[in-house]
Order: sequence, then C-alpha cells, then structure tokens
Amino acid sequence: MARRTRFECPNCGNIFELSALSMVVRPHALSKGNYVRCPQCAISNWIQGEPVASG
Ligand SMILES: [Zn+2]
Repeated sequence: MARRTRFECPNCGNIFELSALSMVVRPHALSKGNYVRCPQCAISNWIQGEPVASG
C-alpha cells in the first residue's frame, strides 16, 4: 500500500520514484513540490511530483 510519487529531474531529465515515507513534508513546500535528490546526478531540486498508481 505504499504510495509513490514520480519525479522528473530538471537537471538531467532522469525520472525516478520515491515512496511518500522517504519524502520530508514541509509546510511551505506545497506550492513548490517536494525537495528531493535525484539518484542519478545527486542534485537536489524542488520538483512537483505526480502520484503513481500502483497495482
Ligand atoms: Zn538528475
């Protein structure tokens, strides 16, 4: 039942998914998206993710 969110890295274009548990929710971050680090280029960005339907 893990909810996952898909992100596209604006730096390298890599598409990756993170589970909600691995993301830190910040009150002022909602309009920007989530501050996540790309596993490919290791650059952190504010990315508006989109939920992934699982199952
Ligand atoms: Zn990247």
